[in-house]
Amino acid sequence: MSQHLFTKSSPEHQGLFGLFPEEISEKFSPSTPFRGKQVFDWLLKGVETFDAMLNVPKQMRQEMSDSSDGTPFSSFLVNQQQDDDGTVKLLIRLNDGLYIECVLLTDEEDRKTACLSTQVGCAMGCTFCRTAEMGFQRNLTASEIIEQFFYLSRITGKPSHIVYMGMGEPLANIGEVIRSIELFHYPKGFNISARKITVSTCGLTDGIKTLAQDLNIPVKLAVSLTSADNEQRTRLMPINKRYPLPALHRTLKSYCIETGKRITLEYVLIGGENDSETAGRALAEFARDLNAVINVIPWNPGAGNGTQFSEPSQQSISSFCSLLEKEGLRITRRYRRGRGINGACGQLAGNPD
Ligand code: SAH
Repeated sequence: MSQHLFTKSSPEHQGLFGLFPEEISEKFSPSTPFRGKQVFDWLLKGVETFDAMLNVPKQMRQEMSDSSDGTPFSSFLVNQQQDDDGTVKLLIRLNDGLYIECVLLTDEEDRKTACLSTQVGCAMGCTFCRTAEMGFQRNLTASEIIEQFFYLSRITGKPSHIVYMGMGEPLANIGEVIRSIELFHYPKGFNISARKITVSTCGLTDGIKTLAQDLNIPVKLAVSLTSADNEQRTRLMPINKRYPLPALHRTLKSYCIETGKRITLEYVLIGGENDSETAGRALAEFARDLNAVINVIPWNPGAGNGTQFSEPSQQSISSFCSLLEKEGLRITRRYRRGRGINGACGQLAGNPD
């Protein structure tokens, strides 16, 4: 038995998209269990009304409709924007009037990656991130997480990959995140393979352990490190006070040994802040025995009203990356897309204006 606290998500408060077929049956048609699968299949096809569910009895359609304001979705697509680089950003209104954003990135290999939000706002307080400036409003339900995927699919076709890198801290809403992963992975549903799903965290060690122990789906783990200096990391990412670097390193080490998986360390490169040679060497030191891939993300403007932080120069990005390579680390430089529509890393704010 694991020692940590982990509240499993329950079906009661879910919208329809957050339910497995048998849970739909239990809720609306306990005497005819196959009905749940019929409804589930209609949802999967993307129907927008209950009337379109032709093989489902009228009374059951009515009951579902009454319980969800007449539409299978609990959220509404309000606006969509497309950047010149093909990135699409959606603004979605939740049923309590709050807003979230999600993004679809298309890359050179034609992968379509859905970048999903897990919370309205964020409580982690990273000083360089625009979402953090909103503060924390509430957790999303699994249904609200999955509905983002549906809205993105409708516009661009079914995404091939999922990254939990939108607004919020996934491991601070781990019950709903796990339910949504189970549904995305469900063979009779979207059937998305574990290696195409990435969960990104600012380093909540309890959550990382829970993910490894309680989720039977070996998704990929990305950890937003951004500094390998404990003092600097606390200044940039206040959550480091509660989960300091040495503890994070220990947890990641066990994670790698237990799962045998390669993790990603995300490093937001901020001009004049964490792009020095010393910072690069500290990062190499931290990463070495973790067999990690480093994802260098040049800081995108948006937070701190542009005064506190600056973008790193091309020169500083190149020398930082080549230093890491010389240290023998594997690096990637993705996630710059969507800047033209404030849809890149750290720029999501769910702002309807
Ligand atoms: N809370 C989770 C999920 C969010 S992922 C996490 O921290 O991992 C969003 C990624 O964008 C994180 O790696 C975060 O560090 C990074 N980020 C935040 N603000 C940014 C900015 N202004 N420019 C570039 N990356 C940023």
